[in-house]
Amino acid sequence: MRIGIGHDTHRMEEGRPLILGGLRIEHPRGLVGHSDADVVCHAVADALLGAAGMGDIGEHYPDTDPRWKGLDSTRLLAEVVDRIGQAGWRVVNCDVIVHAQEPKLGPHKPIIRANLARLLGVGEDLVNVKAKTGERVGPIGRGEAIACEAVTLIEAAASPAARDRSEFV
Ligand code: MG
Repeated sequence: MRIGIGHDTHRMEEGRPLILGGLRIEHPRGLVGHSDADVVCHAVADALLGAAGMGDIGEHYPDTDPRWKGLDSTRLLAEVVDRIGQAGWRVVNCDVIVHAQEPKLGPHKPIIRANLARLLGVGEDLVNVKAKTGERVGPIGRGEAIACEAVTLIEAAASPAARDRSEFV
C-alpha cells in the first residue's frame, strides 16, 4: 500500500464557471485556470500520482500545452486513475478537504463524493469530502481563492490482500 497527498489552489473571478469535483455549481464567481480549474480533481489526481511515485499533474498536463486548455478535469482524473492502473495500482480510499468561504458546499458534497467515487472506481463509502470556510481571513476567507487538499491510499492490484478480499466480494 502507498499513501499520497495532493493540494491545489485556484483564484476566484467574476463570470468564471465554478466546477468542483466535476460538479458545476451555480455561483456568480468561479475559478481561473488553463483547464476548468477544478481544484478537487487536481488535488486528488496529484495525490494519486504522489502515492504511485509518478510525479505530479504539472508534469503530465503542462499548462503551456494548448491541448489542456479548457480541459474537463474529470477527464484528467480518469486518465490519472488509468495511468496508475497501468502501473499496477488501484485506489483504496480518498479523503478530501475543500477550503471555500463561499458558496456553502454542504448541499453539494454528496454529488462531489459520488463523482469522485465513480472516477476512482471505488464505492462511495471509500470517498470522503469535507468542506471548510476560511473563517473570513486570508485569501480563502476573503473569497479570493478556493483550495483543496486530498489524501489517497492505493494498493498493488495483485497484492495478496487484494486477492483475499476479492474472494469475499
Ligand atoms: Mg490546478
